[in-house]
Amino acid sequence: MSPVMPAYRFPVRCTAWNDHRPLFSTRDSTEKPRDCHYCLAAALIFCMTLAGCADPGVEQNTHEMLNATLWRQTSAEYLAIAAQTYRLARTNLDLALADPGWTAALEQTNDATGLPPAIIVDLDETILDDTGYEIRVIRDLGSYTPESFDEWCREVNAPAIPGAREFLDYADAHGVTVFYYSARKAALRDCTARNLRELHLPFPDDTRLLLTDGESKSDHRASVARHYRILLLLGDNLEDFVAGSKADPSVRRALAGRYAQRWGHEWIILPNPMYGQWEAASYGFDSRLSRPEQLKRKLLMLQGQ
Ligand SMILES: [Mg+2]
Repeated sequence: MSPVMPAYRFPVRCTAWNDHRPLFSTRDSTEKPRDCHYCLAAALIFCMTLAGCADPGVEQNTHEMLNATLWRQTSAEYLAIAAQTYRLARTNLDLALADPGWTAALEQTNDATGLPPAIIVDLDETILDDTGYEIRVIRDLGSYTPESFDEWCREVNAPAIPGAREFLDYADAHGVTVFYYSARKAALRDCTARNLRELHLPFPDDTRLLLTDGESKSDHRASVARHYRILLLLGDNLEDFVAGSKADPSVRRALAGRYAQRWGHEWIILPNPMYGQWEAASYGFDSRLSRPEQLKRKLLMLQGQ
C-alpha cells in the first residue's frame, strides 16, 4: 500500500501588515489564496528575515581559529591527550636515565655519557597554556601581532598545561635539570620568569630560561648539549625538535618522517591546532599578507592536495 501523502497547506493570506493571524495555518490547499500580492510580500519578508537571522555579532566573530581554540580549551579529548603525553614523557624519562647512551638532541654530537642529565621543554602550548591570548585574537584583534602577544605575556596570566607541572617536578626530583626554551623575545625574560615561578615550576634561576635574542632553538640545544646529556625534548612545533622546520608543508612533513623513530621516544610532542609554523607555512610565512589573503592561500593549499 502506498503511503498517504499529507495534503500540502498554503500559508494563510495576509490581508494587512497589522494582521496578527499566524503566518501558517491549516487552510486546505484546495482553497485558493486571496490577495496573493500580500501573500508573496509576506513570504518575501519571511525569507529575508530568515536570511538575516544570523546574529551579526556571531557573523563578524566567526574566526578561523575558533574551533581549534574551543577544542583546545574545552574538550575532554585535549585533557586526555595531555595526560597521555606527560605519562609517556615520564616513562621515557625513566628509560633515558637508565640508558647512558640515550640522547634526544641531534645537536648532541659529543660523548655525553658522563654528562649530567637535562631535558629541554618549549614554553607556549607545551608548558604554558596561552589560549587566553588566542581568545583575545578571536574576540578583539582578528590577527596575531607581536605587540599584543608581548602585552599578554606581561600580564603573567598563563596557566600550566595539564600534567606539565607534575612531570617537571618528577624530572627535578630525579636530578634532571629542566631547561625552558621559547621563541619569546629576550625582552620578555622578566615576565616569563615570573610566570614560571608563580606556577611553582622547577626554576631555580634564570639561566634555565632560553629566549630568543638572535639564537635559534637549534643553537640553544647545541649550547645545552655541551654541558648536559639531553634526555628528552618536549614541544608543540617541529622547530622544538629539529632545525629546518621553517619550510614548505611538504618539506616539513618529510622532515618529521625522516625522524619518525624519535616521536614518542625521545621527542614528545603536544598538539597545537591553533597556530604554529604549520599554519604560517600555508601562506609562505609571509606575515605582510592581510588576513583575507592568508585565508585565500590556505584554501588554495587545501585544493592542491
Ligand atoms: Mg610552543
